[in-house]
Amino acid sequence: MSIAENFHAFQNELQGTNCRLVAVTKTHPVERLREAYDAGARLFGENKVQEMAAKQPDLPPDVEWHLIGHLQTNKVKYIAPFVHTIQSIDSLKLLLEIEKQAAKNNRVIYGLLQFHIAAEETKSGLSLPEAEEILQSEAFRTLQHVQLTGVMGVATFTDDEDQLRREFRELRGYFELLKQRYFAPQPEFKEISMGMSADYKLAIEEGSTLIRVGSAIFGARPVPQD
Ligand SMILES: *Cc1c(COP(=O)(O)O)cnc(C)c1O
Repeated sequence: MSIAENFHAFQNELQGTNCRLVAVTKTHPVERLREAYDAGARLFGENKVQEMAAKQPDLPPDVEWHLIGHLQTNKVKYIAPFVHTIQSIDSLKLLLEIEKQAAKNNRVIYGLLQFHIAAEETKSGLSLPEAEEILQSEAFRTLQHVQLTGVMGVATFTDDEDQLRREFRELRGYFELLKQRYFAPQPEFKEISMGMSADYKLAIEEGSTLIRVGSAIFGARPVPQD
């Protein structure tokens, strides 16, 4: 199956749902991104700052770039001119740096709070108390150029369906709670980013609004990532 065929199959599967697809293009050359673009893909996900910044000029300007990997504060400046959503926000310090760089570029950058939902310790993300500490801080209230639009999580690498469902439900629970406590008047706070090639069907059933799909569209990546 070609990239276009794979992408169209996802489009059909998502039709009539509340869920959109982020095409995860890490490690793939821009020609393959353009193939996906020509098939209709507009949301692209990369996990590394340098790689995203290198590819961005070669794709049309209506691409929504989503950063899905860990972001160091000193690298925000490289993507601030164009990034649409940073899905991996895991500290107040990072939020403040995004605010600063977005202001410099006179734009708003959207963000998701990344939660730790997996059993593996190596996977990053916030706990609920850590997220609430950020949202209750004085500094958070001053932000004008970064807008939180939801939550993101990476589930455990397992084929245990019950465990995956538990983790997706945990993330959805965090979303509902934060929405009620901190974002109730804001319809923009609406995204639950969960589900990848191996587990996206379950994630959609559990309420995902953004699935992040790489290998099921582009094939296996040349080298193992993260
Ligand atoms: C690589 C990656 C994906 C996509 O993984 P696939 O299994 O290829 O679909 C999704 N989310 C994150 C955070 C990733 O790093």
